Amino acid sequence: MKRRAFLTTSTLSAAALALGGCHKPQDHSKDEVSSAHRGKKVTLKLATSWPAHFPIMGTGVDAFAARCLELSGGSLEIKVYAKDILVPALQVFDAASAGQIDAFHSGVYYWKGKNSAFSIFGGMPLGLVSEEMITWMKFGGGYALWRELYAKHNLYPLIGGTTGPQMGGWFKKEIHTLADLQGLKMRIPGLGGEIMKKLGVSPVLLPAGEIFTSLERGTIDATEWVGPALDSMMGFAKAAPYYYTGWHEPGSILELTFNKTSWEKLSSEHQAIITVACEEMTSVMLQKFRYENAKAFAVLPKTVEIKTFPKDVIDAAKTALSEVLKFESTKNEDFKRVLASYEAFSALNKPWDDISTKSFLQIRA
Ligand code: CA
Repeated sequence: MKRRAFLTTSTLSAAALALGGCHKPQDHSKDEVSSAHRGKKVTLKLATSWPAHFPIMGTGVDAFAARCLELSGGSLEIKVYAKDILVPALQVFDAASAGQIDAFHSGVYYWKGKNSAFSIFGGMPLGLVSEEMITWMKFGGGYALWRELYAKHNLYPLIGGTTGPQMGGWFKKEIHTLADLQGLKMRIPGLGGEIMKKLGVSPVLLPAGEIFTSLERGTIDATEWVGPALDSMMGFAKAAPYYYTGWHEPGSILELTFNKTSWEKLSSEHQAIITVACEEMTSVMLQKFRYENAKAFAVLPKTVEIKTFPKDVIDAAKTALSEVLKFESTKNEDFKRVLASYEAFSALNKPWDDISTKSFLQIRA
């Protein structure tokens, strides 16, 4: 408290002197602020669910950690650990909850098994796009609910990036009607997978390293991943020529989540630095996905055929989605509450989006 009072007075008097304009006073305020940051060096352990320096997502976290160090004058060091170094990729939630690590970077929909409501914070099939998701989180009540539900696991979540619209996936055979989906095996996680199941597909969970081989050998018939930038690196075009436009992940949210005790121990300066650096990571990641996807899309092999799912598939997906949402709402009160908040924002947002963005995109065509 004393230090803060001193800082404020000193900063104000420096500013007053500067405004007086008689002569340029020596500006001590900057030194004082940075020495306050340097006061106590903090080192945090952050585990990710990605391989080391994984493009866009992993490198986004690397840049976030470098930014925290820079903005704090070296007093906030966040050590980033790739998947499986400290904890297995999909155990980062439990490890942070238990305090074995201070923070993690991952995808929200992985934790559906902990509480089905979490999947809504990760994004909704046929639902809000990235910018709309972030708006719901920040202004429409999403963040408050996310933090309330994560607090039960001693966690404090922040939006840690977003992918923008994802593609619908790579198929070995063309889908002409809903009937063509019957019996297909597809790697597709989350709510999208649940919907596909209702459409006759068997959703398969595979580690990233096994997807291409499974597709090439025909163990699976289709896979979704992210978009052209990351999909091209997986080589899917060589195994499945039909590349479908997206519907199931229009705006997936990634998370940068802290152990709540670790978060509360941080100074307000360090909390502010992390919050700002996270905002930066989120916007940069969205821009980077857009740019890298556009570049990769331009050079997709000529053998790739871009397709859009037929209307009967999308109509069936919409029906299946409302069934899944209804079912989860009756099973889980949290899901019902989060969905109500999400739907209230969607209802507010849609009429305006229809006459602004959607209308303009049709005009620009
Ligand atoms: Ca995906």
